[in-house]
Amino acid sequence: MITILDCYTDEPSGLGVPPYLGTYPRYIAGSLDKPVYITIDDLRLYQKYNSIEQKEAQNTNIRIYNLTKNYSNIKEILKKTTTLIIILGSHTPGKYLSALPGTLKEILPIIKNLKCEKIITGPSSYDMKEFDDFKINHFDFSYEEIKNYAIRGARIIEQLSDLRVVEIETSKGCPRPDHCIFCTEGLKEFKIRNPDDILKEIQTFYNLGCRHFRIGKQSCFYSYPHASKLLKKIRETCPETKVLHIDNANPQKIITPEGIQLTKDIVTYCTPGNIAALGVESFDEKVVKANCLNSTPETTLKAIEILNKYGSERGDNGMPKFLPGINLILGLKAETKETLEINYDYLKQILDKKLLIRRINIRQLVKYPGTEIENEKLPKKNKKYYYNFREKIRKEIDYPMLKILTPEGTILKDVRTEVHEGNVTFARQLGTYPLIIGIKERLSLNKFYNVKITGHMLRSITGEII
Ligand code: SF4
Repeated sequence: MITILDCYTDEPSGLGVPPYLGTYPRYIAGSLDKPVYITIDDLRLYQKYNSIEQKEAQNTNIRIYNLTKNYSNIKEILKKTTTLIIILGSHTPGKYLSALPGTLKEILPIIKNLKCEKIITGPSSYDMKEFDDFKINHFDFSYEEIKNYAIRGARIIEQLSDLRVVEIETSKGCPRPDHCIFCTEGLKEFKIRNPDDILKEIQTFYNLGCRHFRIGKQSCFYSYPHASKLLKKIRETCPETKVLHIDNANPQKIITPEGIQLTKDIVTYCTPGNIAALGVESFDEKVVKANCLNSTPETTLKAIEILNKYGSERGDNGMPKFLPGINLILGLKAETKETLEINYDYLKQILDKKLLIRRINIRQLVKYPGTEIENEKLPKKNKKYYYNFREKIRKEIDYPMLKILTPEGTILKDVRTEVHEGNVTFARQLGTYPLIIGIKERLSLNKFYNVKITGHMLRSITGEII
């Protein structure tokens, strides 16, 4: 028996941390004959509590929250398993509201005594060498293979008891001729998936009861040549879809006439609360040049204006229909103290122009093997400014932006309760980068409510049930 153990994945182009269901377990499952799908949470519950489901504590235990239907049977499953495929890889680690990805360090002692064959795959497998009795397999399927595997693998959703946002892939690699020197996508050959195959995959999930989709597995949705046609067909053939969102986009593509048309189509066919995450990385032109980034500050500003022009109207779930998000990276080549000031000034300019951004994501550079930046000696002298920079952005940009985005009294619909922290319930809408809402009562989890916004924190909001 083959068992797939999902420790969850998070990469710049692709999310598979619950409530999102990534592509890795699905494609692998599709290539096998009736595999069993389990999560790291199932394994933790087995190890710590002998697979007995725990009564809810004051604070929700997100280590054992995302159980599959197989959770009570883990001992038996592990006994029968002849091959264990472990999916690992949080490449863009962050804090997750209701899940904690598993790491190699964590799983090694748990599965040490299993006699089966053990295979590691997922984003982390690219940074590893084979060791002990573990094999590495990237399961690097071609799109011809994925055509069938994606359909067959959709059935793993039946082994889950909770609802998932299904992550959908349109392409791999980077469509630009030049690549940003820190990025691993640039190392892969650019390939696109046939739109009919993608549509069939979504329809399969739809027929299995899924209603939430995020077309997030690609480096730029605007570079996918069949984007408008695909979205239109999804809406026509899956009419009860509740969430249809996208993720990454290259500002350079947004500002072209085709990009403007696609922006309008995204607003028409996707659902509100949608975000195009722009990989800006830096507003400092020197840094843009030194790292071969994809967009100049002027282009980014134009793209933000276009997205605001067509997408800022409020949709029926209470959120603006389609807004930009901004990703910044600290620690890039040629960064100086001034870079931080330039980044701040541009963000302030955006706020002053009353342009909306849904979220600003600030990460520190990670040097991945094989990238051009891997062997660069980068000065660390700016590191001491990062904390204050982040705080300043949170207080002076994020906070006032949130107040404009969701003024007090705004009603957000279909908000799903996810975790408890004492007497507070944290909830959010399903979709791409939804806002976290703290509600001052202990509500039952995994239920949908309409919430009135009552206040703002630095990066989240507070609300009450109506
Ligand atoms: S544009 Fe840059 S960050 Fe985006 S996929 Fe290409 S190389 Fe990576």
